[in-house]
Amino acid sequence: MSYVDEVIERVVKENPNEPEFHQAVKEVLDSLRPVVDANEKAFRRDALLERLVNPERQIKFRVPWIDDNGQVHVNTGYRVQFNSAIGPYKGGLRLHPSVNLGIIKFLGFEQIFKNSLTGLPIGGGKGGSDFDPKGKSDREIMAFCQSFMSELCKYIGADTDVPAGDIGTGAREIGYMFGQYKKLRGLFEGVLTGKGLSYSGSLARTEATGYGLLYIVEEMLKCHGKTIEGKTITVSGSGNVAIYAIEKAQQLGAKVVTCSDSTGWVYDPDGIDVAALKEIKEMKRQRLTEYKNYRPNAEYHEGKGVWNIKSDIALPCATQNELGLEDAKTLVANGVIAVAEGANMPTTAEATDYFQANGVFFLPGKAANAGGVATSALEMSQNSERLQWSFKKVDAKLKGIMVDLYHNIDEAAKRYGFEGNFVVGANIAGFEKVVDAMNAQGIV
Ligand code: NDP
Repeated sequence: MSYVDEVIERVVKENPNEPEFHQAVKEVLDSLRPVVDANEKAFRRDALLERLVNPERQIKFRVPWIDDNGQVHVNTGYRVQFNSAIGPYKGGLRLHPSVNLGIIKFLGFEQIFKNSLTGLPIGGGKGGSDFDPKGKSDREIMAFCQSFMSELCKYIGADTDVPAGDIGTGAREIGYMFGQYKKLRGLFEGVLTGKGLSYSGSLARTEATGYGLLYIVEEMLKCHGKTIEGKTITVSGSGNVAIYAIEKAQQLGAKVVTCSDSTGWVYDPDGIDVAALKEIKEMKRQRLTEYKNYRPNAEYHEGKGVWNIKSDIALPCATQNELGLEDAKTLVANGVIAVAEGANMPTTAEATDYFQANGVFFLPGKAANAGGVATSALEMSQNSERLQWSFKKVDAKLKGIMVDLYHNIDEAAKRYGFEGNFVVGANIAGFEKVVDAMNAQGIV
């Protein structure tokens, strides 16, 4: 049995009931086969893959908090510090009822390679809780965030582990967590990113993941003689990533006709009204059913359906495994030319294979949504030098990072004879830097 297959088998056996983690490990290791095969003896001797797939540390803790009626609730908190070979652990905190250790491990594992691809000195980690922020009062959110940070603060710091936002963790939650960290540790330091602008956050961090997604798609199309201008785009999700992907796509001259949330989706043939979307989701925290009040010509549908709408480019920006094989077949039949993942692992392995087999440009999340964490690293730089850069400066750096990242993964794919396969390119390019750093630092 090959080394890769052996390690995949062990991961499945030793981490039962963690299907998302198995999926992520298989996806990454499968595409690393050319590099592993070429170095099998040394990698086996050094147990390199075993060290890569085992987190350096995983922390699980109790999070008790009191609701507005005096009832005590207990949630579970997680922080998985996966790999610090190239820098302090970095990765978001997800607050969603579906969160479990396997999901945090899948996200932390992917984060290692994504962070490496940014070219910045950040290691991989991820955390979160099965707490559901939906329907909670501000005071309840604060109570949860303070309790969560009371424990988490023992394990993080500006030079050790710097968490950020993710699903369910936006500016409000980061603010409450930062306040609690500062109170308990007595330190005003860059321990979290995605902070508010009045307390050392970075301009353009809010926009970064969505904008970065469009910058890399733009570069990829440009290199193939195409543009975003005039294209029809389908987007899923209506959170942080989706909103700013839609905004930048429209600035670049595309028409975005869909968005969705966890209960339904919108088709707006005239193009999504971003100002309305921001008001509904960012300010009022309402459901997408409200969208029709702003745009009477738009359609609202319960359930899933975004991928049935004809488009040139599809940008899944909600959550993992939201685009399956049947969706891929529909998109291809409708003439899609490019798919880029704004979310983490939104496309199933079968759907990814189908896109690639049918000549669709496919950009995996670890490359396509890396603009968020890259800008978080820029926020860390600003915090270290106690400065705040202009929006223009951060946005220009973000664009430069995404353009370089595209060429880096394109070149890595070509180097191993997989031209145009950006999944292979991203995994190999991300892996090479991490392995180099791990080798330099010995068996630790
Ligand atoms: P948000 O919480 O802001 O938005 C998530 C969106 O996805 C919401 O519209 C939400 O609907 C929808 N959604 C969440 N879970 C489900 C589900 N199980 N089924 C259907 N829809 C769902 O999160 P973000 O925009 O920050 O994150 C979206 C994705 O992008 C995630 O995969 C995240 O890991 C990834 N990502 C985020 C980055 C960032 O900087 N924010 C950086 C890189 C990746 P509803 O409104 O109903 O909850």
